[in-house]
Parts: sequence; C-alpha cells; structure tokens
Amino acid sequence: MTNNTISYSPVITDYQPEILLLEEGVEEYPLAQEVLSRLPDIPRQKFQDISMLTQQMKSSQYDVFGEGKKRLALSRFKGSFLKKCPGISPGMVCCNYYVVNLAKNCIYDCSYCFLQDFLGNNPMQVAYVNVEDLLVELEEVFTQYPDRNFRVGTGELTDSLALDAIVPYTAYLLPFFNQQSNAVLELKTKSDQIANLLDHSDPTNIIVSWSLNPQTVIDQEEKGAPSLAQRLESAKACLDKGYRIGFHFDPIILIPGWEDAYQQLVNILCDSLPIAKVEWVSLGSFRYRPSLKSIIKNRHPQTHLFTSEHLPSKDGKFRYLRPLRNHAYKTIRGYLKSRLEELNIYICMETQEIWEGVTGKTPRSDEKLDQFFDL
Ligand code: SF4
Repeated sequence: MTNNTISYSPVITDYQPEILLLEEGVEEYPLAQEVLSRLPDIPRQKFQDISMLTQQMKSSQYDVFGEGKKRLALSRFKGSFLKKCPGISPGMVCCNYYVVNLAKNCIYDCSYCFLQDFLGNNPMQVAYVNVEDLLVELEEVFTQYPDRNFRVGTGELTDSLALDAIVPYTAYLLPFFNQQSNAVLELKTKSDQIANLLDHSDPTNIIVSWSLNPQTVIDQEEKGAPSLAQRLESAKACLDKGYRIGFHFDPIILIPGWEDAYQQLVNILCDSLPIAKVEWVSLGSFRYRPSLKSIIKNRHPQTHLFTSEHLPSKDGKFRYLRPLRNHAYKTIRGYLKSRLEELNIYICMETQEIWEGVTGKTPRSDEKLDQFFDL
C-alpha cells in the first residue's frame, strides 16, 4: 500500500440489535428518539429498573456477556459521568486522561477484552441517552479548572465509534468539544463507522485513535472487528478531513513470529498514510486480571493468548515477563522510529522501570510526551 492508493468508502454498520430495551421515560430524550428512528423494525420492550432487568436476564442464560451483545438498552445515567482514567494503579505510570462512560459493552468480541470480566454479568449493551446531563457536567468541570488540560475519552467500557451509526453520540460531542479551550475529546476505536465524523464540518479538539494489530492477530483474537485495512482507510479519511489521529498498538500479543508480524504492521501503517501527521503511537502489551483467564478460555477456546508465560505485576495484572516486554517494546519502538525518528511513542499501563528500560527516560523528562501525563 502507498499513501496514494488508500481510499475510504462509507460503510454502514451491519449490526442491529435483536431487541431494544427501553427504560420508562427515555423516549423524551432526543438521542433516544434518534435511535428509535434508526431502528424502526426492531422489537421493543419497556422496563422500569435496569438492576432488576439485569438480575432477571442473567439468571436465565449461559453466555450472559456474549448474549448481551444482541440487546441494546436505552437508559438514563444517574451520577457523575466524568472519571479519572482507571489505569492509575500502584506502580503504574499513566497518561493524563479522563473517561466518560456513555455506553457499556461492545458489538465486537475480542478474546482479550477485559469487559468480559468487568461486565461479566451484564446481559445487554447499555447506551445512556441523557447526554445533555453529560455536557452540563463537563462544562462545569472545564470552567472550574481553566488551567488544566483535559483529555477525555469515551472508549473505556465500549468502542467509541462502533455504534455511532445507531447511537450518534458524536453529533453531541463534536460540536461541544469544538468550543472548548482546555479540553480535547479522544475517540478510541477499532471501527470504520466514521460517517458522522466526515459529515461534521469542524475537527477542532477531536483526536480519533485506532487500536491496531497484525491481521493474523485480528483474525485470531478480534472477532467481528473491522480488518486492519478498514481501520487504516478510516484513519486516512479522518486525517484528510483535518482530524488529529493516533494509534494504539494495544494489546501487543507475542505470537510465534511476532517480530515479523509487527514489522509488517509498522510498514503497512507507514505506507498507508503520512506518518509524520500522526500525533502519537502508544504501545501496551497484553495484560489481564487473574479472574479473566478462565472466562477467556471458556468463551474463546481457540485463543492463542496463553501460549507464553505471564506473571503478576505490581497492579495485580498478569503480563509477559519483564525482559520479554522490554524486548518487545524496544523492538517495535525501533521499527517505528526507523520510519520516523520524531514520531511520539508512549507506553501505556506500564511501570516506570519499563519506561526507563525502553526509552532511557521517564515520561516526565520527555517534553514532547509531557502533555500526556499528569499535571
Ligand atoms: S473493541 Fe474493545 S471494547 Fe470492543 S470487544 Fe474489543 S476490546 Fe472489548
């Protein structure tokens, strides 16, 4: 692939839920009305209390989490939307990042997805429709701390864009963030659902980032997710539209022959779009809480995730052994730097020792990356 050959044709999602679950009163919200108008033929069922509905549904199913991907509940979120990134845990270096959870669960089914454990008993996808409340909350916080720069992501408990053709959060978020002086929105995705982004006229304060893996890993471990080529075509289209873009090599999975696979990934990425215009590439290796392992083995018996040894880190998560992680980060970082020395590369959810081992410095001593870290 070269920079000239890649092109994007709009893709309408194939996904439709089998049933729409509607909390009493949600039809009053414009976003809910929008969803209903986009899914006129999907059966609907009302409910009063999402906790009770959850209890009923999860007691009657085998693969609660997997079956939940077929249902979409529209609900109101009661509480505070904005949270500091939960990546901050003992011994870990973390980027300066906030999350808002507008939706839970995801239409894709990656074998390594932590939601299988975190939302294990959640038998539906949930989309919160009171997005007006979110915007009021964000406005208050951004105004209260004018000297702080906020990076806000929506992709912690879901993919930021996978459902955007059905639940168009971007129609609310993009105009709002366009107006902010101290905040950017980061949409993190594996999706090709960028039609709303291309239709929007102003890319100010929006970063769209794609998680990438070699196509063999996508085939093995990222069930239902768009191909590498589809992700890169979408990224190129967003870049051409003026959006800032980034990439996550996360989770890096050390399959046999991973060096060649990731070398090829770097080549494909750098041949697909002007890499000098990419804001950053983050690296993060496969990690998991102990409780996730048996869930993965049950739900994804063909997975190759556990062909290497993993040990617990300071935060309790299992990771590849430190020398192997160090080697993998150095190698992949080297591939990227050999294509563009100035490329910003950061390491996500890792210890200070790994940072220093790979880059020779702590994140706070790198001015280019300083903006990403705690102020
Ligand atoms: S795209 Fe992200 S949220 Fe969706 S299944 Fe994969 S890892 Fe989970």
